[in-house]
This record gives sequence, structure tokens and C-alpha cells, in this order.
Amino acid sequence: MGWGTTGTGWMGAAALCLAMVLAAPGARAQTPAKELFGAERLPSQAKPESIGFYSKGCLQGGMEMPADGPTWQVMKPSRNRAFAHPTMIRFLQQLSADARREAGWNGLLFGDMAQPRGGPMRDGHASHQIGLDADIYLTEMPNRRLSREERDSMPLPSVIDKRTRHLDERRWRPEMAALIRTAAKEPQVERIFVHPGIKEKLCKVAGRDRAWLNKVRPMYGHDYHFHVRIGCQPGSPNCRSQEETVAGDGCDKLDWWFDVALQPPPPPKPGDKPYKKPPPIFMNALPKACAGVLRQPDAGVVAARETAPAPAVPAAPRAPAPSAPAASALAPVLAPAEAPMLDRLPMPRMRPAG
Ligand SMILES: [Zn+2]
Repeated sequence: MGWGTTGTGWMGAAALCLAMVLAAPGARAQTPAKELFGAERLPSQAKPESIGFYSKGCLQGGMEMPADGPTWQVMKPSRNRAFAHPTMIRFLQQLSADARREAGWNGLLFGDMAQPRGGPMRDGHASHQIGLDADIYLTEMPNRRLSREERDSMPLPSVIDKRTRHLDERRWRPEMAALIRTAAKEPQVERIFVHPGIKEKLCKVAGRDRAWLNKVRPMYGHDYHFHVRIGCQPGSPNCRSQEETVAGDGCDKLDWWFDVALQPPPPPKPGDKPYKKPPPIFMNALPKACAGVLRQPDAGVVAARETAPAPAVPAAPRAPAPSAPAASALAPVLAPAEAPMLDRLPMPRMRPAG
């Protein structure tokens, strides 16, 4: 975190103090990893690499999704979580163009990806730590550019009926099925998480072409967005792959969700131990390399000082203040292809957007 990024006044001073405390070597071991990674404002200047597992790892050399593209807009800018592995960024951009073609939507509204250096988050997700996860809202991108305030506050409605816990047909649109199917059919996608009520609907409408349903897994939440996860990418030797899904479309395994998992918990019996929150993750539980990722220089800072030719990752100019547009939002929309590193990675071919 750079001195120039902490803002001014009382908040800036408080952030500065926190930064100084976190910089002390002993403090790092004692501080929950979510505080350390949550304090990072910029990705690290290093080659892109996913380190560890989706729910226990970090992201080196992350890239930020530009806030606007021809077929997408990034929501919740105040969270600063639109960072991912460059392959994921490019994949999502492609998916947003496909969504226009396959589902007829203007484009996609992207939610959380990862923090600038990945890692555990202060709130919201167990996974999303290594730059290979992204949430996509089940709301069509409007036909205009949303303001920053709207992106943080716009209602993003659920498609699930709270009472029945099944789909609310009035809020469901067939394009949503087309969108999820399009994402699931991408070879790079390993999993898609949706609310069981959405999976139930997809099972009903899939018809004979249903192999893609295997990747669509029921999960708590995920009723106003779906979650796309791609596999470990080349160049990330310490990225741990998840187990393969079991065979089948999974449509015969939904009863448990509605009969048990989504039912309100039974009232506590006398003698029951009170629920205890699991303890936070500390640095020693993450792969060793993640401590190194926290020490790496901010992306853009090193490049600005060097006179060497193009850096390995697209250099984002250092953000002058938290309220300014995100650094890499200033980059051209489809910038990843310019990075020499990326040319060696297998990438989906970009089709003309729109
Ligand atoms: Zn998610």
C-alpha cells in the first residue's frame, strides 16, 4: 500500500497508522490475513500467478477489470474487488460479449472478483482468493453508463421466492438460463454456483442438451448472482486444483437442499453448544508465497521508475486517491493482449464485441 493512496484527514491518518502497524514484522503473524490483504489497494508488480486454493490463497500480479466495457460494467466499486488473474479478466470480457449474442442482453454487471492481491476478505466470501472466481449479477446491464453511486447502491433483486425457497417465476427470465448455459459450456469454466432453486429451474428447461448442468452446482446464497470459477492457469505451479465434479447433471440431488439445508435451523436444545464462528485465517495457514505477495511492490510504481521496455504485466498508474477512477480503468478496454506475458498463455480468441 502506497503512502499516496491513503487519502487525507482523519481517515487518511487512521489508515496510515493501520498500515504502519501491519508493516511491523511481528504484527503480520498476529493479524488475521483478511486484514492484511484487505488493506492492499493495488496488485503486486510481478508475473500473474494464482497461489494456493480458491478458499486459501492469494493472487500475484493481478489485473483489474476496467470499470466499463462495451458489454459490461463493474458494480460495487467501493469494495475494490474487481481484480483477477489476467486470463479470468479476458474470459469474463469474452463472456460478456457472448451474453449479448446468446442471451440478447446489453451486457453483464460484474460483482466481486478478488482483492488486488487476492487473499481472504474481511466480509462476504470464503473463496474468491486466487483470482479465478467472479460473481455475475442476474440483472441485465442497463443501456447507459451507471454512476459510481448507482453501482454501489442499485438494487440487485433475487430470483428466489423467500417463502417457498424455489424460483420466483415472475422474476425469472429465460435469458438467465441462456446466460448460465453459455458460461457453463466454456471449456475453461470448472464450476458455476447458483441457488438450488435456480439449479432446479435449469434442470427443468435444459431439454436433451444437459451435460453442461454438471458444472452448475447448488450453493447457499447465489440467488441474485451466479458465481463462475475457472481452473488453475499455466504459470501457476502453486495453484491447487479442485476435485472433479461427480458425473451426471445433479438434477436428482436437489431434494436435500429444499428438505434440509434451506429449512430454518431447529431451535437449540438444552445442552447444545452455542455456535462459534470459525477462527480467522492467519498468514501461517496460507501458502508461504503469499507473504511474499504482500511484500511485492505496487503494480505501476516500479514500472514508473524503470526506463526498461514493457513490464511483464500491464502497468497500472498508481491511483492518486481512493475516489479517483480505478487505475487500470484508464487502460484500453481489451488491454491484456498487449502484455508480452499473456501472449504465451492459452487465451480464448476475442471476437469483436457487440
Ligand atoms: Zn461468489
